[in-house]
Amino acid sequence: MSDSKGNAGHGKKRLANPANWSAETGLVHGGTLRSQFAETSEALFLTQGYVYDSPEQAEERFKTESGGFIYSRYANPTVAMFEDRMKLLEGAEAARATASGMAAVSASLMCFLKAGDHVVAARALFGSCLYVVQDLLPKFGVQSTLVDGRDIEAWKKAVRPNTKAFFFETPSNPCLDLVDIKAVSEIAHDAGALVVVDNVFATPMLQKPLQLGADVVVYSATKHIDGQGRVLGGIVLGSAKYVNDHLHPFYKHTGGAISPFNAWVMLKGLETLGIRVRAQTEAAGRIADHLAAQKAKGVTRVIYPGREDHPQRALAKRQMTGGSTLVSFEFAGGKEAAFRFLNGLAIIRLSNNLGDAKSLITHPATTTHQRLKPEVRAELGISDGLVRLSVGLEAPEDLIADIDHGIAALKV
Ligand SMILES: *Cc1c(COP(=O)(O)O)cnc(C)c1O
Repeated sequence: MSDSKGNAGHGKKRLANPANWSAETGLVHGGTLRSQFAETSEALFLTQGYVYDSPEQAEERFKTESGGFIYSRYANPTVAMFEDRMKLLEGAEAARATASGMAAVSASLMCFLKAGDHVVAARALFGSCLYVVQDLLPKFGVQSTLVDGRDIEAWKKAVRPNTKAFFFETPSNPCLDLVDIKAVSEIAHDAGALVVVDNVFATPMLQKPLQLGADVVVYSATKHIDGQGRVLGGIVLGSAKYVNDHLHPFYKHTGGAISPFNAWVMLKGLETLGIRVRAQTEAAGRIADHLAAQKAKGVTRVIYPGREDHPQRALAKRQMTGGSTLVSFEFAGGKEAAFRFLNGLAIIRLSNNLGDAKSLITHPATTTHQRLKPEVRAELGISDGLVRLSVGLEAPEDLIADIDHGIAALKV
């Protein structure tokens, strides 16, 4: 393969192809589209429209929707860079970036479902995702069945002749339950249904749903992809056929496009996604281990997919390359103990957001899951003593010291 001068030429050619890059390289260079000024950093194209050289060119562009841009609700160069970088990372053929994670979730399902269809979804869903499946889709004649996502038999039993989609998150919010992507995808495909996975909690660094058999992946880019708590955004990734036949027409005509500014922030976020998620996951593992050693002090349960005592540890090892940046844990003393702990914290801030460089903690029973009936919360494992911690980029030692202060505040 190499010539007398070594294989530099060959190697350069190989590395010129983004398909040969490792994930970290793609996060920095993937999808970069340089203007005539050859800028180093991705350009921010804040423009609604585009001008044409001639009416002939305009006619051709409208006819083929290729060879250039038409209108930023359909596509925009900065948005295209974000989509291309994500496609490379996820191993997807096509993608559309959206105004928020919920615009991604709702578009991913509504673009191909129609009245008379049926959806099976895991019960442990992000609140707004639950609204889409349980309240919104039925208004348009799409029925849904909610199952315990951990139970393979439950997915099988829920299938009907008109089942067209399976939808779930793994790990789920806030109890970090896992769904076996490969096994559930096989059931869906036998039934002729598409599998849509909300991969926010795992991030594209720790889990690749498309490689495990899923058809569509959605993200709230608001979380780890921005990673610094600034802008909202989302993205849907899947096959070229799914995007061309279903997602693109829906996206283009219903207006869920991301702002080019937000797409630019996401592009810059992606550059550091790998190192951030690695550091945050490592810190989350240390914190989970520390919490697990505090049983005598009132921490009765620690849930972390990276720990050997996670009830689905074998599955976590099969489909994830890390335990995630989130840790949930429970206090024996219920809401009162949880609030005392939260009031005892100095660095970790109270917020329902996640995936941020800042460590954030929330009490799901009184915030994100307040709307649910107590018996539904109990079914989902969301007790009054449960808190969910999103681990940030602070020194892990400081976070552990902060947690110890919170635990010390449990004593009356
Ligand atoms: C935050 C979140 C969403 C919604 O994303 P937004 O950007 O807030 O619209 C959807 N799914 C999961 C799992 C999330 O954490």
